[in-house]
Amino acid sequence: MLEEVRGYNVRFRGSNLTYHSDILYQVTKPARYTGGEWNSVGKDWESTRIRIALAYPDLYELGMSNMALPILYDLFNNQPDILAERVYAPWVDMASAMRASNIPLFSLESKHPLKDFDIIGFSLGYELTYTNVLNMLHLAQIPPLAAERNDSYPLVIAGGSCALNPEPIANFIDFFVIGDGEEVSLELLDSFRNWKGGDKRAPKEELLRQVAAIPGIYVPSLYQVEYQTDGLPKSITPTAAEASPCVQQQIVSKLPPPVTKPVVPYIEGVHDRAAIEISRGCSRGCRFCHAGTISRPVRVRPHEEVIQAVGELIANCGYDEVSLVSLSTSDYPHIDKLVSKLAQQYQSHNLTLSLPSLRIDSSSIKLINSLPSHKKTGLTFAPEAGSERLRRVINKGTSEDTLMEAAAAAFDSGWTNLKLYFMLGLPTETVEDAEGIIQLVNRVYALGRQAKGKRPQVRVSLATFIPKPHTPFQWVAQESEQQLSSKHELLKRGLRRNGIRLSWQDPKASLLEAVLSRGDRRLGAVIYRAWQRGATFDAWSEHFDYEKWLRAFAEAGLEPTFYAQRERPPDELLPWSHIDVGLTTAFLKREYQHALNGKETPDCRLKACNACGLERRQPACQQRLRELSQNKR
Ligand code: SF4
Repeated sequence: MLEEVRGYNVRFRGSNLTYHSDILYQVTKPARYTGGEWNSVGKDWESTRIRIALAYPDLYELGMSNMALPILYDLFNNQPDILAERVYAPWVDMASAMRASNIPLFSLESKHPLKDFDIIGFSLGYELTYTNVLNMLHLAQIPPLAAERNDSYPLVIAGGSCALNPEPIANFIDFFVIGDGEEVSLELLDSFRNWKGGDKRAPKEELLRQVAAIPGIYVPSLYQVEYQTDGLPKSITPTAAEASPCVQQQIVSKLPPPVTKPVVPYIEGVHDRAAIEISRGCSRGCRFCHAGTISRPVRVRPHEEVIQAVGELIANCGYDEVSLVSLSTSDYPHIDKLVSKLAQQYQSHNLTLSLPSLRIDSSSIKLINSLPSHKKTGLTFAPEAGSERLRRVINKGTSEDTLMEAAAAAFDSGWTNLKLYFMLGLPTETVEDAEGIIQLVNRVYALGRQAKGKRPQVRVSLATFIPKPHTPFQWVAQESEQQLSSKHELLKRGLRRNGIRLSWQDPKASLLEAVLSRGDRRLGAVIYRAWQRGATFDAWSEHFDYEKWLRAFAEAGLEPTFYAQRERPPDELLPWSHIDVGLTTAFLKREYQHALNGKETPDCRLKACNACGLERRQPACQQRLRELSQNKR
């Protein structure tokens, strides 16, 4: 909170620092940088031993709607000797104003420069934010390259889904947290506490070796990566005894308590509502889906815990809308009963519930119709592919009849706006599959026209298939820009009519995402050069500049197509092969083969366990196997 405003100088509570407030008049949405939001935590800087800056490498409004940071913010601030503060990527106007005034990047809570913290922890959920990581470090007056940071700089660590192929960004990060961070973070902070508290602090290398021995911590500087003459990875070898040849993803067996006192922004985030994670993981087995594959097994929060948490969220934040977050909300056990209990319990609060990620079927429409005060603003279905054949390939398991029933039920229930998500460039996709999207959308539109007195609006969103590490499609080549563009043209022609709106992803940005998703450590040089050339906010179409990236690739002597558009043989050493998410390569290969044969694999929570590999170490999966074998007897 502002403590004192004198002339142009602003002094912040709990901080000795004074900043020129006039830069806030030069930038859009100054509230992105002022902090002091409801429920933000301001611990005493001087008396708190360990200071962590939680960094989100994208805009404030996006970061405030992210679910990972609040969990760690809550967890760390609940420790008496730790303070955690937040920082988001300053938008381009603020970044240049800060550079012009020589203001180092600072935290929102105490406004201390990031270089005064012990640890800066980045949450990496999207590869196109990598240049923002470098930019934030540079704005903080910290060298982006880990090798150029001596012991006087904070440790720079990272976690999140991108950390499961950490190699492209490995040159900039001291170590990665692989998997669920809730338990392992506290363990590594014990090591940090001992290291910091020692009479004579040992060099940083000593700490890095210590934390490398903690399961789930990957210290890239303790691994040597060698390449063959043709550019393929040859070996990834630990160079210290503490570094494991294979770093295991950490998976909490029980969901930690929900965050019920999150920071409430003063400006609207992308989701202006409270959120509670009702389950983590997905057992559906869509073969393209990174989130589903890396977050197995499914862990469910009990009804009572959700109900209590919703009450606390309403009381602590004043929200009247709560999102029940899950990768597949329809699969949450007895979701209908949970919804009706919540509606009953919080009737007097005029509560609105939102249910993202619903399965496409008429029971989902019934469920939405049962929500308290549901608004009929829009409904999203994700058929992903235009033909049943291709949906079998990707294991989506939705028939056209089911989709039509769901769309008819939606229109009959009063919805007029439907959004349909598709993915283009999926493995084995043909022109007929793309034409199938046109036919499907036209059938949905015609259904809407049939609904009496309604003018339907069908929005069609075309994502590009990105082959992701640790999925059954990790070996597949991405389609070329030319192939994707010609399918875009086909769809634009086929869906040009009133009432249907089409949007698509820039194939160049998709190509870069594919490169960074499955890249190796040599890409660090490309990211560095692209950032030096001014690349930031690459996920934002108005800032994405492919030319800068092409020049960076050329300077580093690398080809983007080598990473994105090359089918990888099944025995090739993959850059992420030393990161073990729990799923075996044998399972992924089997699933890829099933995809090519158009064979579906059932949901392991509905049918038999598919032995994906987690049965080796996950108690929930072992229990499931025991139950199945007992049922068979
Ligand atoms: S081990 Fe079996 S039950 Fe567990 S996630 Fe894998 S397929 Fe499902």
